[in-house]
Amino acid sequence: MNALVHQASIEKAADLSPAQALDRALRSASPSEVIEAALKTVGREKLAVVSSFGTESAALLKVMADVDPAIPVIFLDTGWLFEETLAYRDTLIATLGLRDVRSIKPLEETLSREDPDRELWFSDPDACCRIRKVEPLARALAPFSAWINGRKRFQGGLRAEMAVVEDDGARLKFNPFANVAREEIEAIYQLAKLPPHPLVASGYLSVGCMPCSSRTSPDEDARAGRWRGRAKTECGIHTIKTS
Ligand code: SF4
Repeated sequence: MNALVHQASIEKAADLSPAQALDRALRSASPSEVIEAALKTVGREKLAVVSSFGTESAALLKVMADVDPAIPVIFLDTGWLFEETLAYRDTLIATLGLRDVRSIKPLEETLSREDPDRELWFSDPDACCRIRKVEPLARALAPFSAWINGRKRFQGGLRAEMAVVEDDGARLKFNPFANVAREEIEAIYQLAKLPPHPLVASGYLSVGCMPCSSRTSPDEDARAGRWRGRAKTECGIHTIKTS
């Protein structure tokens, strides 16, 4: 048994929830150790990575591929993504040998009922994220017991205090990059010669949907370009129970 998972089972005996026990055991673990522990805990059939194939996504996908390139990867194709992001998805599948990337789209009937004019991103972005991201993700995660994502504490906001392992109310959620510094991510890119997202060169430090992403200036945080001018900072997939 993986020593960190074994440690978690000891902690579990001390009246901690499974997520708390794993978090305590994995608090100082490396990203690959966290992914290995997630695999040991639920098995590959029950584990998924969720990736936006954004500007920092290749680091998590590289670490994951080194552990097991057949772990399912869920990619939310909202219908508002940049062509460059779709191309980057295909580049990383080929570069990293990812074997099970699942591109998930919103339901057509939901789009035509709730956003027939494709203007919901402007009039009600929370509702737009719900039908294009939160609901599709909940459907995609239904067969899984745990998921992995690439959020970092250094991104600030609601992310600054996150645990390495959480219980999202429906399943375990592993954050292997929670403790990782920006420099370590850059080092992973350099060491593995990972291709950058095509939009980084034109000033996008964080890329999501087209209407809700903008370039950032050198004195801004990477995520300052997301939902610029609005109070919104998260799409909801990390703040809402996934089923
Ligand atoms: S990020 Fe913008 S366009 Fe994308 S789902 Fe959310 S509100 Fe809609």
